[in-house]
Amino acid sequence: MAQNKRDYYEILGVDKNASDKEIKKAFRQVAKKYHPDLKPDDKEAEAKFKEANEAYSVLSDPEKRKKYDQYGHAGVDGQGFDPSSFAGFESFEDIFSDFFGGFGGFGGFGSSGTAARNNAPRQGNDTRYRISIEFMEAVFGLTKTIEVTQKDTCSTCDGSGAKPGTNVKTCATCNGNGTIQERSQSLFGMSIQTRVCPDCRGNGEIIEDPCVDCNGSGIRNKRKSLTVKVPAGIDNGEVLTLRGQGEPGVNGGPYGNLYLEVMVKPHEIFKRQGYDIYCEVPISFGQAALGAEIDIPTVDGNVKYKINEGTQPGDVITLKGKGVPHVNRDEIRGNHYATIDIEVPTKLSDEQKALIAKFDDETTAENYEKSSSFIDKIKKLFS
Ligand SMILES: [Zn+2]
Ligand SMILES: [Zn+2]
Repeated sequence: MAQNKRDYYEILGVDKNASDKEIKKAFRQVAKKYHPDLKPDDKEAEAKFKEANEAYSVLSDPEKRKKYDQYGHAGVDGQGFDPSSFAGFESFEDIFSDFFGGFGGFGGFGSSGTAARNNAPRQGNDTRYRISIEFMEAVFGLTKTIEVTQKDTCSTCDGSGAKPGTNVKTCATCNGNGTIQERSQSLFGMSIQTRVCPDCRGNGEIIEDPCVDCNGSGIRNKRKSLTVKVPAGIDNGEVLTLRGQGEPGVNGGPYGNLYLEVMVKPHEIFKRQGYDIYCEVPISFGQAALGAEIDIPTVDGNVKYKINEGTQPGDVITLKGKGVPHVNRDEIRGNHYATIDIEVPTKLSDEQKALIAKFDDETTAENYEKSSSFIDKIKKLFS
């Protein structure tokens, strides 16, 4: 068991000569990162948190640290370390009260657990949704109405959590602060800990008659319609931010954001790369050999294009500015690239076959650029 344990200094990421202050600071950072309140159901984080606590319980105690420095884990194992004691703090709550209670609160984290310990305003959680749109809709943009179901302010009580017509009282225990200070005498003198008020659970308010629609939380799942403007040029996988359309804030904090991921369906003819569009245009051998006016499909519709005599398969025609408009700069557009594909006919009548055979008899390698240079190369190879 002991030999599998990681080095305590390594766990906290401090030097062997680290001061008590540095050790405490390092522990705070690790505790903050892996705290189970912030990462519920994360077994790995929980294990890391316990490991850090054990390391801190040893390294913060001068006597134990000395023994650990001298004998390693063997010097401190079985010294009565109780993983649930969390380095001398009674509970997770105490750790955060002690560490963060006096530092202006704990805003910016999620709304569950730990963050509920004071009544500072906090921004609501962000939400994520996904929409699927057509290729052409992505190219030219569209306005779309989406339906979302997410937490919102309860309209029955206007978010107060109190039954309409009843009052919300300021908590007498903490005078509405949400926290209380506790003094305790220890070996090192008087210590003051800030704790979450047990009567109002940090809200600073007491609801005597809770709203029945939201059970006094002030928040309720709601279905709402949002009109979203999807800009022209948006690409598959891009995310639109709808500011303030997430979940409601707590204690008067602002709403979170809603992130909308846009999935673009593939198109039958067009392929997109950045702001450029690619397609293949099949033409006949006759058109390629003699030149012709052909139709090239683009997102703006068909474009007439005159191909030259002797056009080859794989030749690329560039139509400048016929690609996708840049997001929020519609006047700038990518290009359209059409690749020529020369198709060999597969269903021929006897008469047609005879015509082609006659044509083939009358032409030689001289009529073909590639064939003639190919024959020259073969000749050189064996000469
Ligand atoms: Zn309500
Ligand atoms: Zn209170």
